[in-house]
Amino acid sequence: MNDTIAAISTSLGIGAISIIRVSGDDSINIVNNIFSNDLLNVDSHTIVYGYIIDNNEKIDEVLVSVMKSPKTFTTEDVVEINCHGGISTTNKVLELVLKKGARLAEPGEFTKRAFLNGRIDLLEAESVMDLINSKTESSRKLAMSTLSGNVSSMIQNLRNKMLDIISNIEVNIDYPEYEDILVVTNDMIKENISFLKNEISKILNEAKNGKIIKDGINTIIIGRPNVGKSSLLNKLIDEDKAIVTNIEGTTRDIVEGSISFDGITLNIVDTAGIRKTDNLVEKIGVEKSLSLLKNADLVILVFNNNEKLDNDDMLLLDKTKNIPRIIFINKNDLKKNIDIKNYENIVYGNTLDYSGLNDLRNKIKEMFNLENIEKSDLNYLSSAKHISILSECYSIINDIEKSIKNNMSVDMLEIDIRKIWELLGNITGESYDDELLDNLFDKFCLGK
Ligand code: GDP
Repeated sequence: MNDTIAAISTSLGIGAISIIRVSGDDSINIVNNIFSNDLLNVDSHTIVYGYIIDNNEKIDEVLVSVMKSPKTFTTEDVVEINCHGGISTTNKVLELVLKKGARLAEPGEFTKRAFLNGRIDLLEAESVMDLINSKTESSRKLAMSTLSGNVSSMIQNLRNKMLDIISNIEVNIDYPEYEDILVVTNDMIKENISFLKNEISKILNEAKNGKIIKDGINTIIIGRPNVGKSSLLNKLIDEDKAIVTNIEGTTRDIVEGSISFDGITLNIVDTAGIRKTDNLVEKIGVEKSLSLLKNADLVILVFNNNEKLDNDDMLLLDKTKNIPRIIFINKNDLKKNIDIKNYENIVYGNTLDYSGLNDLRNKIKEMFNLENIEKSDLNYLSSAKHISILSECYSIINDIEKSIKNNMSVDMLEIDIRKIWELLGNITGESYDDELLDNLFDKFCLGK
């Protein structure tokens, strides 16, 4: 028997209503003990009006929803107390529920129970949090599509294909004397594996869109001091967030901001100007800026139109050559002294008017194909963890292909095929370990 858990499911603060959610075998009984009216004999999915009572004192006037197992969020008996919002009332009601025998839920424990009780799979469970965290219309749509099971069935289909191959191999190994079974050959495996490879590569390609929709485009603005990086950030996000001065080395730490366009969030980081320096603080800033490049989806490398490229600029061109990059040549209101050729994605502009900024936005849209992302349906894998699991599957498939070329026996191939099947199961949660679950649900908010 599961113990009964309780938590405040709404955010704790001043508001019209707060909801305390209770789930578990004893939930109806526990709330019944502190409620003015009978809850034990009501139908499932009904709302009862009454008072929360403590030692004959009316604590709050509430509505209580009673939802009996199994058609509930956790599949257990669930009771939700809709009390007046505000910190002290909400806390008091929760305190009474805990006093009567419920345990305070851990973050995400309701969703964890929904998963452990088989109502949703792990992909769907994770999308609950994505839905709560979604900041744009497309990230909401993506989370909702995943929650509805669309991405799960995509992974499930792959898994079923693997299972077909595995079971055919097993029959061959276990019953070699049977004449009417399908003899699995390396050629057959090759055919199935190449189908799977195509499918996985398609999902991985589209997952880039999913990640962008969910997490946004991590954009780093980089360049020498005084070229106008902070001004560009401020103009892009329409705020005076970064300090703009004409003293070199002013932005020694990292300044962040975000904007969203075409339903996609651009997470922008303005970095310390890059130049060779002996100043310790500035040096740390420069190193930090360069280290940020590792996680960047996009680099906006800023140069000054008024100046010739120097050694620091050349170093930056080299350091960013393998990252999706836009070269923004700022200060085009001043005389052109820069000489730059043979580079892609160059945009000229200045931070005094918006002309160059619109070109910059359009370039980002073009590079990340944003207009098409919006139009397509949103059945994308989006979590970095899942993408890395699928990439691992892809590299195992490459190994299998090599082994087939080397005429490795079918039962040896099965080991790798089974590995892929298990890895795919980690995505949907058909195979998982406790540590993975704990890590995942720790990130949830209380009461969800
Ligand atoms: P950062 O060190 O690269 O972040 O550069 P800032 O944004 O602090 O700008 C450095 C100086 O250049 C400031 O005096 C800005 O006012 C000036 N500046 C920035 N953008 C432009 C521009 O497009 N045109 C002109 N003429 N000056 C600019």
